[in-house]
Amino acid sequence: MSKAVLTPEQQEFQEYARRWLAENAPPPPPERLPITAIEVMTVGQRDYLQAWQRKCYDAGLVGADYPTEYGGGGHEGFQRIANMELGRAKVPFLINIVGLNMAAPTILVHGTEAQKEKFIPGCLSGDEIWCQGFSEPGAGSDMANQQTSAVPDGDDWIVNGHKVWTSLGHFAKWMILITRTSKDHKYDGLTYFLCPIEGHDGVTVRPLVKITGEAGFNEVFFEDARVPDAYRLDDVGKGWTVAMTTLTYERGAAESAGSGGGESVHPTQRLIELARDTWRDGECAADDPVTRDAIMQRAIVAEGMRQNGRRARVEALCDHPMRLPLQQKLTSSEFVQDNARVGVDIAGAKSTLYKLDERAPSKGYWPLAYMNSYGHTIAAGTNEIQRNILGERVLGLPKSK
Ligand SMILES: Cc1cc2nc3c(=O)[nH]c(=O)nc-3n(C[C@H](O)[C@H](O)[C@H](O)COP(=O)(O)OP(=O)(O)OC[C@H]3O[C@@H](n4cnc5c(N)ncnc54)[C@H](O)[C@@H]3O)c2cc1C
Repeated sequence: MSKAVLTPEQQEFQEYARRWLAENAPPPPPERLPITAIEVMTVGQRDYLQAWQRKCYDAGLVGADYPTEYGGGGHEGFQRIANMELGRAKVPFLINIVGLNMAAPTILVHGTEAQKEKFIPGCLSGDEIWCQGFSEPGAGSDMANQQTSAVPDGDDWIVNGHKVWTSLGHFAKWMILITRTSKDHKYDGLTYFLCPIEGHDGVTVRPLVKITGEAGFNEVFFEDARVPDAYRLDDVGKGWTVAMTTLTYERGAAESAGSGGGESVHPTQRLIELARDTWRDGECAADDPVTRDAIMQRAIVAEGMRQNGRRARVEALCDHPMRLPLQQKLTSSEFVQDNARVGVDIAGAKSTLYKLDERAPSKGYWPLAYMNSYGHTIAAGTNEIQRNILGERVLGLPKSK
């Protein structure tokens, strides 16, 4: 972000964030970290990442733009700067991605005063990990087809049903949960809850192991689980509208409470380093014109995405409020896949060496990145669905039959 577009306060904050991150980078993790938060599997990884998020929060780098009464910094336009600096510093990622990017912003828009005060601080500090209970065996792309039911019982609701693909569910204290409260209306029959998970009666979390061997996903079963009405977010029957707010944030159409760190900022740098370290028949891959061209292509797409991101921040340059964010989700998820494929191509046969093998290039990053990359075009709504939304709502094409 160039200094010219920052106010003096924002410039000062940027310098502070840079300095703080240089002085406070955490010690090496006690055990290898996964590539993103949704593959965090062990208690050791969780504790390390939770402590790091807490430290960033205490330093004002998370929740910077949230109101102070809900645990935020009370600033304007600081979070984007913090996110950039976290990425630039190549520090570990923040673990509470559902809390930061989905729960907190949704509660801020739809919550009561009491809900905002109770829930938002834990999302920001990372002390309370959140998961998202939207997907069900029959309700992925067709999200309005929710079957998990919530039936009123005095001051509580009784929840029964089955959620699936619940990232971070094994460590979550809370879930953002969509339920069916009426069978008479598809969309108006949904209600949204902030649901206790960890150790809660009637809730069972069962890990699902992915192709990578990591267990970041879960199934969550509700059997007569009691949820107080005080944890209902917005009105009964308003669940679809509230879920749309969550999806707007999940699909990147708005600045969230905090993100950054991890792998996000120098996507082609890893490829360059890999090419420099890879030798075949006495030739360095970095000298091979085909490899150089493939990396250059990735760099061009990365720059296009960066410029689109900048353009999305200037209202006068946006013809439709949803176009650039939807387009970025499509491009960035395919970008991750293409990068991983180029990495695997460069590493060649060695790319099959897994993370525990000392001979594996980049400490076994590439096979993990490759296998995980397929989730990116599915999570947060598949790219087919994104294309439908772009076609129908942004380009105004006729609805598919
Ligand atoms: C890495 C990852 C993390 C996830 N984390 C979570 C989480 O934490 N919480 C959660 O609730 N969910 C999570 N999910 C689930 C995710 O949101 C769903 O997988 C996704 O919405 C797709 O739903 P589905 O798997 O039921 O596929 P389906 O809806 O069954 O779709 C199958 C295929 O048919 C296509 N298709 C379906 N309908 C149409 C249509 N109308 N037009 C064109 N094509 C269509 C789809 O694009 C897809 O290719 C996660 C998924 C992944 C991969």
